Amino acid sequence: MVHFVGAGPGAVDLITLRGQKFVESADVIVYAGSLVNPKILESAKDGAQIYNSALLTLDEVIDIMSKACNEGKEVVRLHTGDPSIYGAIREQMDELEKLKIDYDVTPGVSSFCGAAAALEMEYTLPGITQSVIITRMEGKTPVPENEAVEKLAPIGASMVFFLSAGDIKGLRDKLLAGGKSPKSVCAVVYKATWDDEKKFICRLSELPEKAEEYGINKTALIIVGDVVMQSGYEKSRLYAPDFETEFRKAKR
Ligand code: SAH
Repeated sequence: MVHFVGAGPGAVDLITLRGQKFVESADVIVYAGSLVNPKILESAKDGAQIYNSALLTLDEVIDIMSKACNEGKEVVRLHTGDPSIYGAIREQMDELEKLKIDYDVTPGVSSFCGAAAALEMEYTLPGITQSVIITRMEGKTPVPENEAVEKLAPIGASMVFFLSAGDIKGLRDKLLAGGKSPKSVCAVVYKATWDDEKKFICRLSELPEKAEEYGINKTALIIVGDVVMQSGYEKSRLYAPDFETEFRKAKR
């Protein structure tokens, strides 16, 4: 059996209890070496075979998994953050299905949640926005035309850019082309929840210069939208005294 496990954004104690148990009992662990905190692997049992998928192709990953499963071993495929976000797990699950190998998925804390925690911010502030757009800028791999930065920018939702820190200037230019004001506020979080986490908030116009100043060009999320200000919002209706729910009578 293969367990796909979200390792969380970085801090060792941000993997789920379920994910941790799978790591502790695995015979074979294939981990995303570029971003999974290697300290998580310290809880693997003695003799566990550990492979870094950053050095492997899809076929090689599947080969390791299927050989282990055929020998009756338990396999953990450790992905960074949550596996459903840019995790490339669908293609692995499809290959396992072809080979009639069972698998399951354990979610993880995605880095976009880790980044919000680092910034002590809420993405969905009433009166500002009720949506979060998780996206990336086109780079070596394409993004559907309708999801180009310029087309998503006018929506006004909180935007979280993954996999885009390598060209922050390009991102700034596309956001401006999409109608964002140069004065709009954005945030960058590098290695959210890791010991060497870095973060800053700045105006969109100065985003590339600030990123350079902080030495950030990878492993970062760029958060864009009025929401980054964390002010000018309306209080939640849910906790308003005159609001009644299934659990609480209104206080008049
Ligand atoms: N599945 C992962 C994302 C994998 S894609 C998740 O849910 O977080 C890899 C990209 O995620 C990186 O290029 C970076 O943009 C972002 N990322 C992953 N971990 C991060 C962290 N701790 N801090 C900031 N960005 C991170």
